Amino acid sequence: MARFDEFKEANERYAAFFDKGDLPAPPARQVAVVTCMDARLHPEEFLGLDVGDAHVIRNAGGRVSEDAIRSLVISERLLGTGEIVVIHHTDCGMLTFRNEDLTAKIKEDLGVDTTGRDFLPFPDLEQSVRDDVETLRRSELIPDDIQISGAIYDVQSGQLREIVQV
Ligand SMILES: [Zn+2]
Repeated sequence: MARFDEFKEANERYAAFFDKGDLPAPPARQVAVVTCMDARLHPEEFLGLDVGDAHVIRNAGGRVSEDAIRSLVISERLLGTGEIVVIHHTDCGMLTFRNEDLTAKIKEDLGVDTTGRDFLPFPDLEQSVRDDVETLRRSELIPDDIQISGAIYDVQSGQLREIVQV
C-alpha cells in the first residue's frame, strides 16, 4: 500500500473528530518559525504550538533562503506576524556534505550539471544560525520592528538552546 493510501485512512479518522474549522488564517500567536524538514523535528510539539498558532516554514536545514524570505514577507505583510524564530538542529544532514559532493552525486545519478548551485549546506551549526539571523536582519524586506531569534534544537534531548536574539 502506498503511503498516500495510509494517509487517506488516517485523514478519515482525523476529519471525523475535527473541530477547528473556524480558525482565522492569521496566526493567533503572530510568529513565524523557520526550521529544518528533518523528520525528527516536531516543532509544533517542542514549541507548544497549537493549530492556528504560527507559521512554520520548513526546508532542508531551516535556511533563510530566498523562498523562506518570500514566505516570511507574506507572513508579516499579509498575515500579521511580527516575530521570526530560526531553529536549526543537532545532527542536521546539512552538516554532512558540501555543494561539490552533492553536485557530483546529482551528475552521477541524474546526469544533470548543477555546478554553481548552492544547496545551502553548512559546516558549523551555531554559525549557520547566526548567519541566517543576520541575513534576515540585513534584509530590507524585514523591518527592524520584527523581532528575530535564533536557536538550536537538540534531537537527542528535545531541548532548545538560544543562540541569538536581535
Ligand atoms: Zn536538518
